[in-house]
Amino acid sequence: MTGVEHFYQDVWSKAKTIIREESSIDKIVYDAYFDESSLAFLNEERAIITVPSFVQKAVLSQRIPLIKDILEGLGYLVTVEILLNDEYGPQSTESTIVHNDQVRVEYTFDNFIVGPSNKEAHSAALACAFTPGKFYSPLFIHGNSGLGKTHLLNAIGNYIKKYHPEMKVLYTSGSEFVTAVVESITSKTESIENFKKRMFSLDVLLIDDIQFIAGKEKSHEIFFHIFNELVNNKKQIVLTSDRDPSEIKGLEERLISRFSSGLTVGLDSPEFETALAIIKARLNTQTLEGVGVVQEDVLSYIATNFAKDVRKLEGALNRLLFYAVQFGNGGTIDFKLAMGAFKGAGNVSEKNEVSINKIKRIVSDYFGLTRQQLISNSRTKNIASARHIAMYLSRKLLDLPFIKIGEEFGKRDHSTVMNACEKVETTLKSDINYKNMVVELEKQILQT
Ligand code: ADP
Ligand code: MG
Repeated sequence: MTGVEHFYQDVWSKAKTIIREESSIDKIVYDAYFDESSLAFLNEERAIITVPSFVQKAVLSQRIPLIKDILEGLGYLVTVEILLNDEYGPQSTESTIVHNDQVRVEYTFDNFIVGPSNKEAHSAALACAFTPGKFYSPLFIHGNSGLGKTHLLNAIGNYIKKYHPEMKVLYTSGSEFVTAVVESITSKTESIENFKKRMFSLDVLLIDDIQFIAGKEKSHEIFFHIFNELVNNKKQIVLTSDRDPSEIKGLEERLISRFSSGLTVGLDSPEFETALAIIKARLNTQTLEGVGVVQEDVLSYIATNFAKDVRKLEGALNRLLFYAVQFGNGGTIDFKLAMGAFKGAGNVSEKNEVSINKIKRIVSDYFGLTRQQLISNSRTKNIASARHIAMYLSRKLLDLPFIKIGEEFGKRDHSTVMNACEKVETTLKSDINYKNMVVELEKQILQT
């Protein structure tokens, strides 16, 4: 068994123990349907559970919310899919392997709403799908979380599968790529040569969140070879990342230059009209039992307040519908009912949500450090100074206890944090340049 398989088995056996001992599933049901299940795949977004029989698949599929909750309790916030053992490709042996393209069917161009914020990325993605390899390769799509990168990437995959069925497509992620490289080096299942050969045979390689290969030297090297081979043979590569190639820390120069050698397009937060259109489209596809029509001003309210990120937009809508089912009278969802749904959700201010991670990110970016360096033990002046400022801002903007800040910054005790904050306050009074810098950082944190 490979390292990854051990890991999956470990996670799943914990989950099964919880299902058996703590959930409402009784023993007979557990033995009949859950006992033979396994975890075939897990990354930061997705878990695939496999079972031997159709009946087991049907029963487990009914229980996806429970499985999802349990995995979340174990620290994996993922979507869950149930497949038959032989529907999941990688389980079979190499010679009989059926190519599993991993493209997610639910994301298509048809259900992607186009507006000014995503027009450029959408048209570039469609051009790649329309004439794979003949448009720019690589196409590099970047943008913050929740703006539709994964959606567009899979839409390309689905389009090509439909209109160019002869082409071999693969959708994967940066972290899955790293795992695969580590696997092929350490295990006997697939040699690195085989892995490369498999990649070389693709016509279309779609890699989501490529930033995860940053800092992984061996993966850089392998990826560099695969990249060159595919691009030289006029194959299509599409990459996504949460930032522009040049801003990915820990990525080798030669990769940055390769990533930027095709076409780079960005995705922005949807503007009001686009946000509204996305909500309306979502409402149209939902079966709304026990819920009346949603009034226009409610939709406008959601589009105005939650449009930073499409995921939040969808979350707000789901919250509203859930609330309406629970507390509404089945009639029209009006503004008053909606206010009830969003009251206390703390969501309204999420347009500019400040979090400790955001502070860490902005401060470390400003000083050209990695987040790891920021919380490290290094006493290098630049690093220590950045750390002090980040601690100070966490205190000032989030009003967190010193103890909590200490935990967040490399397990320091509260007196260290207090001293740091005092030091920053003193310097603020005496050094105008320092003050300008801290004010600028604060502005960035509050306004982006
Ligand atoms: P990212 O990969 O950039 O973090 P996703 O592609 O996962 O974001 O998008 C988050 C959610 O928002 C998904 O459910 C996706 O379908 C939806 N979404 C994003 N942009 C659009 C759009 N323009 N039209 C319809 N749905 C969208
Ligand atoms: Mg994504």
